[in-house]
Amino acid sequence: MSEEDYNPYKEAQEQFDRIAEKCDLDESIRDLLREPIKEYHFNLPVKMDDGSTEVFKAYRVQHNDALGPCKGGIRFHPEETIDTIRALAIWMTWKTAVADLPLGGGKGGVICDPREMSEREQERVSREYIKQINKNIGPLQDVPAPDVMTSAKHMLWMMDEYENIRGGRYPGVITGKPKDMGGSKGRTEATGYGVIYVLRELLNELDRDFEDTTASVQGFGNVAQHAAELFTEYGGKLVSVSCWDQEDKKPYSYYRESGVDVDELRNITDEYGSIDKEKAKEKGYERLSGEDWLKQEVDVLIPAALENAINKDNVKEIPESVDIIISGANGPITTEADDILKDRDLLVVPDFLANAGGVTCSYFEQVQSNQNYYWSKEEVLEKLDSKMTNAFHEVWNLSQEEDIRMKEAAYIISIKRVAEACKARGWL
Ligand code: NAD
Repeated sequence: MSEEDYNPYKEAQEQFDRIAEKCDLDESIRDLLREPIKEYHFNLPVKMDDGSTEVFKAYRVQHNDALGPCKGGIRFHPEETIDTIRALAIWMTWKTAVADLPLGGGKGGVICDPREMSEREQERVSREYIKQINKNIGPLQDVPAPDVMTSAKHMLWMMDEYENIRGGRYPGVITGKPKDMGGSKGRTEATGYGVIYVLRELLNELDRDFEDTTASVQGFGNVAQHAAELFTEYGGKLVSVSCWDQEDKKPYSYYRESGVDVDELRNITDEYGSIDKEKAKEKGYERLSGEDWLKQEVDVLIPAALENAINKDNVKEIPESVDIIISGANGPITTEADDILKDRDLLVVPDFLANAGGVTCSYFEQVQSNQNYYWSKEEVLEKLDSKMTNAFHEVWNLSQEEDIRMKEAAYIISIKRVAEACKARGWL
């Protein structure tokens, strides 16, 4: 399939259809779960700084809320499409379900380019979005969060607008807020640490330990840095990481035989996760091509940068030594590459299980905000560890019992959970 033909919504539906067949789901539940329950399409008239008015298209998709309020980010992107948002909403339903969170799946977006807009214009877009959708979201209905090109500041404007309209304080209406304005401690670490909690449990099952485990990571942003940090803290040896180089407009991998020192590298990395190549060289890191991170003779690969990182063109470059791939990023392995990994019997921990630490901590933020009572970082991380550990074991046990891959087991668990909740509510 060429990139132009790729439709994430169709992909999400096909994945669902395959598992629905295996789980022998009724026709009615299939009809319900293969499409979003509700979609809102609306226009945002926004006054621009030059006095003109621009109208931006905006969406909020609620795929399913049988298990609890919908949860999912709001993206600001010029190439956003309704089908991408639908697919992401569906995947959020499976992610929250596999982590056993009392939440459903949703996603939103505005077709706009914040890189071309002033702060004030972005604020007006954020507020207008809430003006249009406030009746259809809420702490007990649908709880948005940051996503591509939105951050804590957008969430705070959105919360403030919601509170202006509703006349009260509703910190639980949105997550990803700044820490001193209702955000949760531990959110920054949550996704990367979650990946390593899952890896720890997997190594235990395989009777292996971190001291004898080497890894290579794609990316050196939020998820990659925290995964690298905990992996090395647990005693693993990390030999390479990679990142995008804005100056040369291409990615590089950085390799050091004696191992990567995460703090040392972090100190020479900018806020976008790009490593200073000259300083890295001074510290003894070899600079290799962007793809070399996956060619290293290690035990574990951790793609934690972007989607389609392991594809049919590079999957054969993965050395025999690699027997585990655990995904920090969303969608880092294409379907074709995954089929090849399956034939190799390589253990792949699916993205929506491995990186569920982020949404799990967002759920904790929601709980804390609704109670207006905030936990210590230790408490957050302890709860996160317990959730991720349980989620892993449920998936692992099913995959062992049924002799199926973890991805299939994870899909079966989440789809069954959601289907049973719909039935228990008497919807079908
Ligand atoms: P980030 O922007 O902080 O970091 C991205 C990193 O990838 C940077 O180091 C960047 O230089 C690098 N990169 C970009 N293009 C690259 C390329 N071609 N080759 C190698 N490296 C490249 O992003 P993040 O928050 O760490 O997210 C990473 C991935 O994890 C994304 O797929 C995201 O959707 C997913 N994810 C993130 C969270 C979260 O809580 N942040 C939660 C779940 C999933």
